[in-house]
Amino acid sequence: MSRGLGDVYKRQAVFRLTEHMERLVRGCKAYGIPLDYTVEELVDITISVVRENELHDGCYVRPLVFLGLGSIGLNPAGAATHVMVAAWEWGAYLGVVGVKHGIRGRVSSWRRINHESLIPSAKGTGGYLNSILAKAEAVAAGYEEALMLNSEGFLAEGSGENVFVINDGVVTTPPVSDGCLNGITRDSAITLLRSGGVEVREASLSRASLYYADEVFLVGTAAEVTPLREVDDRPIGDGKPGPITRMVQDGYADLVRGRIPEYDHWLTYVEAD
Ligand code: PMP
Repeated sequence: MSRGLGDVYKRQAVFRLTEHMERLVRGCKAYGIPLDYTVEELVDITISVVRENELHDGCYVRPLVFLGLGSIGLNPAGAATHVMVAAWEWGAYLGVVGVKHGIRGRVSSWRRINHESLIPSAKGTGGYLNSILAKAEAVAAGYEEALMLNSEGFLAEGSGENVFVINDGVVTTPPVSDGCLNGITRDSAITLLRSGGVEVREASLSRASLYYADEVFLVGTAAEVTPLREVDDRPIGDGKPGPITRMVQDGYADLVRGRIPEYDHWLTYVEAD
């Protein structure tokens, strides 16, 4: 879905809710957290939270699975698993001006969590300490977002978004094996681009590839599709969002609002027809 675990758009639908819940269930399995709920139950709970709170366009949903009472020590065995789903109205994460004109990014001094220490492809809350360090550093230095390299020095993602880099009409995004989250908006953007005839590669990217790029954009449930207009004080392309970025922005807006019938199955409607 769009936005956290779910943005709710006009006609009251949550975007890619099933995929978000599948990722949550997979993440629990990867981190060894017992979870009794099925994907279908988590979908139903989310829909009822949105419906009962009378949330409208631009709503964000955040489900959380956490361990409660059981053990004071570090071994979580025996601790009860709890599930909560929160939802609230929330605007553009990186700002409406950012969505329109692009934001300023900076390569972080913090490296993205790696496969040796955590599970970067699972959306574990512990990993967000890493994102918080990077985001806070970037904002304190006057930038809007941090770009994170992995421990080998290859580009992984933004502090809370996947990244796409465009050169000569070819779009490249880091593979999940380079340490980024397996983003659902990333998958939606790849689908949109490929169905529009644009070549998309999943390949490692150097820091300098950001400097040479014609266009760079970030994607995520909260950020949706946000162009970068500058990175490390260097303008990207001519410093304005480019045509491929605009194509993905427009396509994504159509997708989440149910304007592309082919992908209607990506929307879970809050009220039945
Ligand atoms: N990377 C990180 C670190 C994130 O927190 C997010 C937001 N969930 C994303 C990427 C984008 O993922 P998605 O499109 O599934 O929201």
